[in-house]
Amino acid sequence: RQAEIESAPLSPGALADGTPVALLANVGKPADAEVALAHGAEGVGLFRTEFMFLDRDEAPSKEQQTEYYTALLAPFTGKKVVARVLDAGADKPLPFLNDAEEANPALGMRGIRILREKEHLLREQLEALRDAQAATGTELWVMAPMVADAADSEYFTALGREIGLNVVGSMVEVPSAAVVAEQVLATSDFVSIGTNDLTQYALAADRVLGTVANYQDPWHPAVLRLISMIGVAGKQLGKPVGVCGEAASDPRLAVVLVGLGVTSLSMAPPALAGVRAALKDYTLEQAREIGARVLQATSAEHARALFDG
Ligand code: PEP
Ligand code: MG
Repeated sequence: RQAEIESAPLSPGALADGTPVALLANVGKPADAEVALAHGAEGVGLFRTEFMFLDRDEAPSKEQQTEYYTALLAPFTGKKVVARVLDAGADKPLPFLNDAEEANPALGMRGIRILREKEHLLREQLEALRDAQAATGTELWVMAPMVADAADSEYFTALGREIGLNVVGSMVEVPSAAVVAEQVLATSDFVSIGTNDLTQYALAADRVLGTVANYQDPWHPAVLRLISMIGVAGKQLGKPVGVCGEAASDPRLAVVLVGLGVTSLSMAPPALAGVRAALKDYTLEQAREIGARVLQATSAEHARALFDG
């Protein structure tokens, strides 16, 4: 089965009934682009821009950023690339943005919260991304990390539009944003679910702490119900709902996510083949039935067992 999966043609993602599910790559540096395309990625669903600047004491200039982003975007001319603006804080140290000592960094100044305070840096980054898009002819979407509610998404969308970005969205990885998903979606062009942080915050279990690693399981019904709320809101508003956390790379969970209303999946490139093969085994109706079933689980383990009926 594995050999069959790996030698299958790199067709676009689709369910057994032909329903398209875009299969995208998570990338962090220009060298990742080639790997993504070799695995048949249809584009990029998460460009973690902060990976280019980790541990720097000084902010990169706008020119430097334009150069870096252009190098990363160039192989994706004509394709979609979703760039996340700098996600600093907690597990992603960017000293030029956040050098505060915090007792609970995962609950502190992170992502869009810092960028709202340092708007000049956010503006520069968005301008650099816009210029890199113009230089490469990519279909660039931008999104903000750690959006908590519609005030955050409204702020980011307005700024993105002012700077000339065409498609501006929000990550949903804080449970509050999932609970008010229709409000966040109303003020965004799309959302992308970050299941790593969404799980960490839903279960109150630090994602980098080994002793609570058993809680960090996106199959947990509480996480699946949050995702379902976002999927329902996406359908109501007719807007795309992606997943770009690790959950997307688990072939069976990918089927569940689509059944809960997710319209695209982004993952580390080596996971694409397994997910592409799994989606082909289910129709949308079947995926929805599986989605409805796993929502009734009482634990992550139970949800895995309910997948097969
Ligand atoms: C996530 O939180 O799921 C996500 C995709 O972002 P990161 O892992 O970079 O925080
Ligand atoms: Mg995250």
